[in-house]
Amino acid sequence: MEDVSTSSGPDSDQSTARSAALFTRASAVIPGGVNSPVRAFHSVGGTPRFMAEASGYTLRDADGIEYVDLISSWGPMILGHAHPAVVEAVQKAASTGLSFGAPTLGEIELAEEIVRRVDPVDEVRLVNSGTEATMSAVRLARGFTGRTKIVKFAGCYHGHVDALLADAGSGVATLGLPTTPGVTGAQAADTIVVPYNDLAAVERVFAEYPGEIACVITEAAAGNMGAIAPRPGFNEGLKRVTTDGGALLIVDEVMTGFRVSASGWFGVDGVAGDLYTFGKVMSGGLPAAAFGGRADVMSYLAPAGPVYQAGTLSGNPVAVAAGLTTLRHADADVYAALDANATRLGTILGDALTAEGVPHRVQYAANMVSVFFTEDEVIDYAGAKAAQTWRFPAFFHALLARGVYPPPSAFEAWFVSAALDDRAFDIIADAAPHAARAAAHATEPTS
Ligand code: PLP
Repeated sequence: MEDVSTSSGPDSDQSTARSAALFTRASAVIPGGVNSPVRAFHSVGGTPRFMAEASGYTLRDADGIEYVDLISSWGPMILGHAHPAVVEAVQKAASTGLSFGAPTLGEIELAEEIVRRVDPVDEVRLVNSGTEATMSAVRLARGFTGRTKIVKFAGCYHGHVDALLADAGSGVATLGLPTTPGVTGAQAADTIVVPYNDLAAVERVFAEYPGEIACVITEAAAGNMGAIAPRPGFNEGLKRVTTDGGALLIVDEVMTGFRVSASGWFGVDGVAGDLYTFGKVMSGGLPAAAFGGRADVMSYLAPAGPVYQAGTLSGNPVAVAAGLTTLRHADADVYAALDANATRLGTILGDALTAEGVPHRVQYAANMVSVFFTEDEVIDYAGAKAAQTWRFPAFFHALLARGVYPPPSAFEAWFVSAALDDRAFDIIADAAPHAARAAAHATEPTS
């Protein structure tokens, strides 16, 4: 008889006593016990695992339980955890000064590396988070065009920028929060939200507001409502519509940048945005991000131009060392491994679900992977929400109980690293049938 009853519940088969105690302690001083909502396991239940250390593909939690990591810190750790060269670069940088508040050579080298990899990017400005990058890019687009309205897509997440939280994916989707509590009507009034992959909707908006739209911001490929690649011609269409309408196209590559190819999604579809945002991989796991693009647009940025943007810790030497070293080690072999590992993961999960007769669709956006519990292709947020997401908690916990750490939300992409090896895939392959069985036996909540 299958072990559904013991494998699908939160925290079954494992002692999570230390994580549970830490969560209680954290909850007394940190809202919800975590510093970023999705870490709280709200949509899957159970005890969030507090991590103690990580190496290669292995995470070890406070109870000493090891997991094959399929989140990679939500994207950055493409080389695996504690890569020796990255650790050495960070230690060296730290030993010569943690922050100067003055320019350094490393910042130039990181900017040059980004400009070299992504052809449409002439100049970049370093910031501290992806949120800061998208916030600054939108401000720059408004300053450059002298227009106020912005267009975004439902289910795309661009960080917690007030104006960009409207119909956002990621944690906003996971928690089922009302779209933008705390954001004033004025801050959201200039944001127009349209369905992802719906070019006709974008064209209609441009027809409705001629001369008013500063920019369209899009995830290069959507990863915050699960992995949803742009349909053929969609990104090209955005480029055409924005150019014709005198607006800028901001391509958010915070998630895809330097993960899905050496030059991010630009290396996949070759569509040139006017502005780009980057984060995650280019920071090597430390807090750094960037925005960049056409020289004529970037020259509007202070101190070269009038649009203000600044940061006490921007270009931090330790974060720059981690990012630069990560990018320098991200060679063709690493990208080939990421692609192969994504396919291998998706195949194992898909085969297990097929064997149990669970309606599902494994979707890829290059080497980002998602499991949707539906047989229909998912092309937008409405489709992602229409899937049987109630199967996900059981699926998740059965994997977790067998040493596999997937994202704790049905609306997140799964991120492989190049460090995954045959042993890691053996662990995943052993866990997958149990997870599929748990998903098959999950029941839809009545309310
Ligand atoms: N843009 C995209 C596409 C993201 O996926 C994220 C975060 O996941 C962000 C922006 C925000 O980045 P950060 O969490 O560093 O603020």
